Amino acid sequence: MSGGAAERAGGPGGPVHEPDLAVHVEDLTVTYGSRPALWDVDLDVPPGVMAAIVGPNGAGKSTLLEAILGLTPTTAGHVYVGGRRLREARGRIGYVPQRTAVDWDFPTRVLDVVTMGLYGRLGWLRRPGAKERRLAETALERVGMADYRDRQIAQLSGGQQQRTFLARALVQDADVYFLDEPMAGVDATSEAAILDVLRDLRAEGRTLLVVHHDLQTVRTTFDWVVLLNVRVLAQGPVETTYTADNLRATYGGDVALLSGAADPTANADGAPDPTPDPAYAPHEGTRDA
Ligand code: ADP
Ligand code: MG
Repeated sequence: MSGGAAERAGGPGGPVHEPDLAVHVEDLTVTYGSRPALWDVDLDVPPGVMAAIVGPNGAGKSTLLEAILGLTPTTAGHVYVGGRRLREARGRIGYVPQRTAVDWDFPTRVLDVVTMGLYGRLGWLRRPGAKERRLAETALERVGMADYRDRQIAQLSGGQQQRTFLARALVQDADVYFLDEPMAGVDATSEAAILDVLRDLRAEGRTLLVVHHDLQTVRTTFDWVVLLNVRVLAQGPVETTYTADNLRATYGGDVALLSGAADPTANADGAPDPTPDPAYAPHEGTRDA
């Protein structure tokens, strides 16, 4: 797959590979000690989709985002964002880390966290001015956090912390966003605010890769899905990829893991349904099937 015509035709910014894909990953392997967290992962995400990354605890979902972003060492593999290697694509990428990975006791105000999102663009030596402050305030308004701009981040609820980091990602004005469980453990108000922003970003043509914990809302919220458990078991449009067979392959056939209020993978008689049910919509009217 490497060394093709597209790659040789690289412009001044370096070689270009698979430029029609928002994210393209080849043969990515990450090992911690002797244990693989990711094994030979290939990923193709087209632009403009909102993609869910789904898999059990410890499946390597966070590791996948960290490896794509160059935040964790990789054993093998190549990553392209918008056809560019990471160092050329970095300015077009936004990232919201898993909330549990952030030190929330660090003494920082909400507005400062958001302004930090601009540092990549400003360069570290230039201090943010009035224009940057306005951008940060606009982003805080967009996530419904304008009233909290002078609060210490330690004083926020989980949902407010998550919205603050989303505002920080918004000011980055990225083409591709990576978000690690942005809606896990947040209140309903925060979840609705976050979802609104994610849908707006998609409507603007941006690409979102979202590690998502709630199997019940994949169908209503996302249009693309990646099923991961160390390996990629399946990836593609939700309608054709988010099937009972693929979920079973990912979760090891443990139906209990798949069932919540309703089990999207089973018929009324409990037998597995091999095809996705287009009528399945646990959350009212959020998406036409
Ligand atoms: P997920 O986000 O899907 O829950 P992770 O990517 O966090 O999974 O972790 C995948 C596997 O790698 C787990 O077994 C986890 O314990 C291990 N792991 C993650 N980060 C590290 C690390 N820094 N050092 C050692 N092992 C790690
Ligand atoms: Mg994780």
